[in-house]
Amino acid sequence: MTKLELTGDRNQCPTCNEYFNSTAAFDKHRTGKYGVDRRCLTVQEMNNKGMSKNDAGFWITSTMPAKAYAARKIAIKNAADIQQHYPEKIIGVL
Ligand SMILES: [Zn+2]
Repeated sequence: MTKLELTGDRNQCPTCNEYFNSTAAFDKHRTGKYGVDRRCLTVQEMNNKGMSKNDAGFWITSTMPAKAYAARKIAIKNAADIQQHYPEKIIGVL
């Protein structure tokens, strides 16, 4: 595995050597009770929890579901169209 640069909140787990985009993502990949059975999730378990790797190769907590992303794009486009035809209206989504 190539060494990735750790900037900002990015980190690497010293146990499983996976890279994480944030402390939240790191925390999400740890499971069990402290001092009892604390361990890293497997890649399969992380995928099952909705985690995924971003383009830079860092694990993230979750990606925005494609459906929600598409819905938001349409909402923004509709608001832009309304704004164009009714400039006096103030559209919250923009
Ligand atoms: Zn780990």
